[in-house]
Amino acid sequence: MKLTRQETAELVKAIKGKVLITTHKNPDGDAVGSSLGWFHYLKKLGKEVKLIYKDPVPHFLNFLPGTEKVETREKIEEEFDWVIITDVSDPKRTGFEGIPAKKSLVIDHHITAEPFTDYYIVEPEISSTCELSYHIMKLIEPELIDTFVALPIYTGILTDTGSFNYSNTNSQTHKVAAELLEKGIDPYFVYSNLFERNRLNKFKLLELVLKTLDFAVKNKVAHITLFKEFLEEAQALPEEAEGFINYPRSIEGVEVAVFFKEFEEGTWKVSLRSKGKVNVAKVAKAFGGGGHKMAAGFEWKGELFHLKQLLFENLETELKGN
Ligand code: AMP
Ligand code: MN
Ligand code: MN
Repeated sequence: MKLTRQETAELVKAIKGKVLITTHKNPDGDAVGSSLGWFHYLKKLGKEVKLIYKDPVPHFLNFLPGTEKVETREKIEEEFDWVIITDVSDPKRTGFEGIPAKKSLVIDHHITAEPFTDYYIVEPEISSTCELSYHIMKLIEPELIDTFVALPIYTGILTDTGSFNYSNTNSQTHKVAAELLEKGIDPYFVYSNLFERNRLNKFKLLELVLKTLDFAVKNKVAHITLFKEFLEEAQALPEEAEGFINYPRSIEGVEVAVFFKEFEEGTWKVSLRSKGKVNVAKVAKAFGGGGHKMAAGFEWKGELFHLKQLLFENLETELKGN
């Protein structure tokens, strides 16, 4: 059942019993921020809450209080009365085969979202699940939004908007950010924790990945590749490749940037970024993934050359349509 913000607020207020909060695998700032924000907020509302993810919190987000409470599991066995799933548009994205909960609620902002829970609120126009969560929290009990809640929420908005630079940013996003700063958030504390704690290994990995830079579709598509062996060579973690796609995207004349990541032999995680002419959510959906107009992704099993052939053909068609 589709809910409005007000209906979601009333539903969350009335939730009883054991509540599980989860998000997508390989969690990003919005995923961790929204689930953690709700965790702190629901505790303040007196609910019994647990945070379980498929994958661990990445290093760049481990400064957020409460991340040490996140449990990571391959499978969820215990029974919950409720599950709240944030920043997820497709049940596969949680990384769990099934979640044992009597009732379920999704809070999300992906255009490709198709309902898969008892209740859902999806606002594709909003910057982030964190911004949407903040509006709902304000409708429940605004005074419960303290720094423990405001810090992860601010962080998720910041990361999903590319530090308030992407086209999903609007005046409302800045108003929410301003309100969060008024709760005591220090922007440099967040910035320095997110972006000034890199390991040297990240730069070794970047060096290897940038060497693969190549072009397709008359130089309108720029792509980079991370082969599994690069991780070993650089002694780096997959999460340390976060943000690399901004390099091919930053090239003049490029309309779409693609990042092929081989995290397992023959399994590719593909990230797509557009400068506006191509709706990459549509492209990702054709490959079984999803996302937003300007940022999307999908997973693929098979040979890289075959994947490239299919993807570049698809992008060529999309670019011709403009
Ligand atoms: P990423 O390239 O991983 O940073 O993801 C960019 C956007 O695409 C995010 O909004 C993701 O939620 C979405 N996305 C990435 N991978 C997938 C996938 N396999 N299925 C659906 N959406 C995805
Ligand atoms: Mn996300
Ligand atoms: Mn998001």
